[in-house]
Amino acid sequence: MRFVVVGGGPAGIQAASAAARFGVEVVLVERDLVGGEAHLLDCIPSKTMIATGGALSDLQRMGGMGLADVGARLDLETLAARVTAIEARLEASTLELLGRQGVELVRGSGRMGGPHLVIAATDEGEREFEADAVLLSTGSRPRVPDWADPDGDRVLTTREAYPPKELPEHLAVIGSGVTGVEFVHMFGSLGSEITLVVSRQHVLPNKDAEVAAALEENFIRRGVHLLKGARAQGLSRTPDGVRVMCDDGRVVEASHALLAIGSVPNSEGLDLAAAGVAVDPGGYVPVNHHCQTNVPHIYAAGDLSGKLPLASVASMQGRKIAEHIAIGHSVAHRHLNYDRAPSAIFTEPEIADVGVAEAEAFSEGRKIRVTKVPFASTAKALINNDTRGFVKIISDPATGVVLGGSIVGESAAELISIIALAVTAELKVADIAESMLVHPALAEALAEAAE
Ligand SMILES: Cc1cc2nc3c(=O)[nH]c(=O)nc-3n(C[C@H](O)[C@H](O)[C@H](O)COP(=O)(O)OP(=O)(O)OC[C@H]3O[C@@H](n4cnc5c(N)ncnc54)[C@H](O)[C@@H]3O)c2cc1C
Repeated sequence: MRFVVVGGGPAGIQAASAAARFGVEVVLVERDLVGGEAHLLDCIPSKTMIATGGALSDLQRMGGMGLADVGARLDLETLAARVTAIEARLEASTLELLGRQGVELVRGSGRMGGPHLVIAATDEGEREFEADAVLLSTGSRPRVPDWADPDGDRVLTTREAYPPKELPEHLAVIGSGVTGVEFVHMFGSLGSEITLVVSRQHVLPNKDAEVAAALEENFIRRGVHLLKGARAQGLSRTPDGVRVMCDDGRVVEASHALLAIGSVPNSEGLDLAAAGVAVDPGGYVPVNHHCQTNVPHIYAAGDLSGKLPLASVASMQGRKIAEHIAIGHSVAHRHLNYDRAPSAIFTEPEIADVGVAEAEAFSEGRKIRVTKVPFASTAKALINNDTRGFVKIISDPATGVVLGGSIVGESAAELISIIALAVTAELKVADIAESMLVHPALAEALAEAAE
């Protein structure tokens, strides 16, 4: 059995690695970074820079913790070197793992030559691989509207924003979804003045309104200019910066502009027609619950599959695909359930959620029980000198089964794992409430919310 993977991001790597563990012969075709472009050039550098910004804002709380005269100066050169070093280290460890597992790595651009044929264009010419199963996991790239012309200097896509050459004096962020608000936080905490163009009435239009309000409050307190109800429709360079034109006539003058308006799938160039693989009008490759395309032995995963664009989801899809190829639909098999995928927004406060959302359940007339506990009620939040935020658990009032939850505040991205586990394993609130937890710990707010 030969499995050929085209695209070595989280989806492709996990599929290749897990299939090799099952004893399958695996060929991985990657044209650039082993570890993934969206992963290593977006996800990881953005979180690295946010960590530095977070360390700077932690310092501002230190006065209240008995430390005097704590100060720090941003050293962009070291930060840039750190971003590059982390990317390189992650790529090296992935290469080492794949090498150890005997995955054949082909450096080149892959495309379909027929239903069972993958062609890789390499520096040495074209190579052909017969395949019993194929995974298309070529990821995505930032969306660029026709009214903008990113130059990597003043007009940036997310991928061009790190490592930063200079700290933008005044950054206009276009787009107020997850990526946009993370960039506001990232550059705001490093010291840039920020204007956020928000096309709706509040940021994070797809999130719990209470959660979005907590973030807006923080932005306003930090001096972020929020331009609400304004849709950007023009962007031009000025002698010393940029000008953003909005559909309601408002204009933002800034030193730099950042486009955070979503991504587009890397499906062109794959010659999907040669294999008879269907593609939707947006360029995504539709898949079923096993990640099979309309051609059953050809799978698609990650951002290309048009499901949740998260590295964590892409990785899980990859592992499930390997399992499906190697051992089929076993008794222990659990279908991928995208509604149960947790997600996090690395802002200040940090935000994370999973499963059923309160507003959505109410609008559907679904009966739910919502319990909310502020972190301020825990000893650990007082000790940490950070009492912001809350934990919310949503459960079924009849059975007590945990349906979802949201967390706003310190370590939200870590703590949501407890609720995510409960949602996946269909645990009850009593299972969380009766777990003996460490004291003092922020997780105690979860136990309290589960009572
Ligand atoms: C700013 C930003 C921040 C993010 N932060 C997070 C986060 O905090 N947490 C999270 O879970 N997700 C995050 N994401 C999303 C995450 O990065 C993606 O969902 C994830 O990387 C998708 O994985 P993938 O395997 O589909 O694609 P990718 O990671 O893009 O990998 C695809 C690979 O395919 C290769 N490729 C493309 N075409 C070909 C071809 N024809 N032949 C050979 N190789 C090819 C590319 O070179 C690339 O390496 C973030 C995204 C952005 C934009």
